[in-house]
Amino acid sequence: MSQASPGAVPSAGDVHVGPQLHYIGGEFRPGRGATAFATLNPVTNLAITEVAEGLAADVDDAVGAARRAFDEGPWPRLGARERATVLRRIATAIRDHAADFIGLECLDIGLPIAQMRGLAARAAENFDFFAGSIEELSGQAYRVGDDFLNYTVHKPVGVAALIMPWNAPLMLSTWRIAPCLAAGNTIVLKPAEWSPLTATRLAALLDEVGLPPGVFNVVHGFGETAGASLVAHPGVNLVSFTGESATGSAIMANGASTLKRYSFELGGKSPVVVFADADFDRAVDAVVAQIFTMNGQRCTAGSRLIAQAPIYEDLVQAVAERARNIRVGDPFDEATELGPLIRPEHHERVSGYLDSAVAEGARCLAGGKRPADLSSGNFLEATVFADVTPEMRVFREEIFGPVLVATPFADEAEGIRLANATEYGLAAYVWTNELSRAHRVAQAIDAGLVWVNSQNVRDLRTPFGGMKQSGIGREGGYYSFEFYCELETIHVALGEHPITRLGVHDGEDS
Ligand code: NAD
Repeated sequence: MSQASPGAVPSAGDVHVGPQLHYIGGEFRPGRGATAFATLNPVTNLAITEVAEGLAADVDDAVGAARRAFDEGPWPRLGARERATVLRRIATAIRDHAADFIGLECLDIGLPIAQMRGLAARAAENFDFFAGSIEELSGQAYRVGDDFLNYTVHKPVGVAALIMPWNAPLMLSTWRIAPCLAAGNTIVLKPAEWSPLTATRLAALLDEVGLPPGVFNVVHGFGETAGASLVAHPGVNLVSFTGESATGSAIMANGASTLKRYSFELGGKSPVVVFADADFDRAVDAVVAQIFTMNGQRCTAGSRLIAQAPIYEDLVQAVAERARNIRVGDPFDEATELGPLIRPEHHERVSGYLDSAVAEGARCLAGGKRPADLSSGNFLEATVFADVTPEMRVFREEIFGPVLVATPFADEAEGIRLANATEYGLAAYVWTNELSRAHRVAQAIDAGLVWVNSQNVRDLRTPFGGMKQSGIGREGGYYSFEFYCELETIHVALGEHPITRLGVHDGEDS
């Protein structure tokens, strides 16, 4: 655990981390297989600590604990207001220990500390927000003449498997944990194997806050073993998965025989469509921020700049100039704008895309290599490629790094066609000052989330999710409860409606 005092954000040297254990049934414990793996510091690629490796037996223990807590424990039976009170205590505790979470996540995944603060604040907000939402959640009533009153009630579903990626683990997991708990479910969280630290810290915090044993469990481990066992487990009722589209497809196949419900938040290759009449300077700010924050490892990254021909060259040059100025370095340095990629293998994968862009004829305007002054760690310069065509791999595939590709378009129809020329449909950004075109283009783009003249600013009440290969379902506000709750309809007869009478004949009819 981090030993930083609450409030003060530590430097890397202040963050002391012990072995990462599973948290099952209210106890921290090693895996039954007694095997462990290392989580690496992306600045040095040296091991931070050992992480218990969860195998099928650990998953079975965790699902068993969650099942008992759901079937017999108090949590699903509490009133919504009582659960909301606990959620608000969790939010306060996260704020009180924000420095801890910030230090751990900076160390584990290399996000710049200045950006990590906002993500920790959002983690607390997730609990406050869903505490309020569950208190307001109500069913619907349908009066059917004088004969019936029908109404709906929300009930928890059961044991939830939350399988999370490594790019923003604290913010993304709490975005699921909060509504899932609010609804009265119990949880087995499987953090990504590359980013285990804040999940263990969160388990300790929920324990301190007094969540009953078994309501929240954490099993560390790899996707193919711990993750797959969790998905296949008959004791799990619902799976919220965030990660790559290909993994989503494997999970759906694996869980098919036990008929689970899924929410899938998957990959993206989101366009930023900038028309010639847009506010140029604000568009430059947004384009740069939307691809290079969070180290470019962001599902809603605006990774394809699609710019109208008259401003195309000026725009790509302006964006490239800013990219060249981005400070790449130590995530614990307040001045750092771009930290390291998470792992050497991810650095290698992203570097492979840089090579492919050059080989396929894209024009590199900024970056394209490791910074000269950072010879170790997983650092990469903020990179901009111009003249990228839809046939190139870097136009089609999610790179998940600080790499922007730019393509010109002539008119509105071509802008929309290029924006939609992807198998993904998570987010899109449209920049124009022409009102009707803004709406027209936003609606013509097939993406779950479209921002107009804006960077990615979230309202937690609105539905979040992707179209096409970017996901299935929506979470956020009421939509989260559509997934984390069962909806039961109760039909009540108010009077003596006619009932079909069978078996009352006198036996003489033929
Ligand atoms: P990933 O799919 O490799 O892994 C995600 C999680 O799934 C990890 O915990 C992993 O252990 C687990 N997993 C892997 N194989 C599994 C299997 N067969 N069965 C069960 N679990 C398995 O994704 P990643 O590399 O960790 O994350 C990056 C991806 O996540 C990107 O594609 C990014 O766009 C996406 N993402 C999407 C959103 C969104 O909201 N749409 C948000 C963040 C990240």
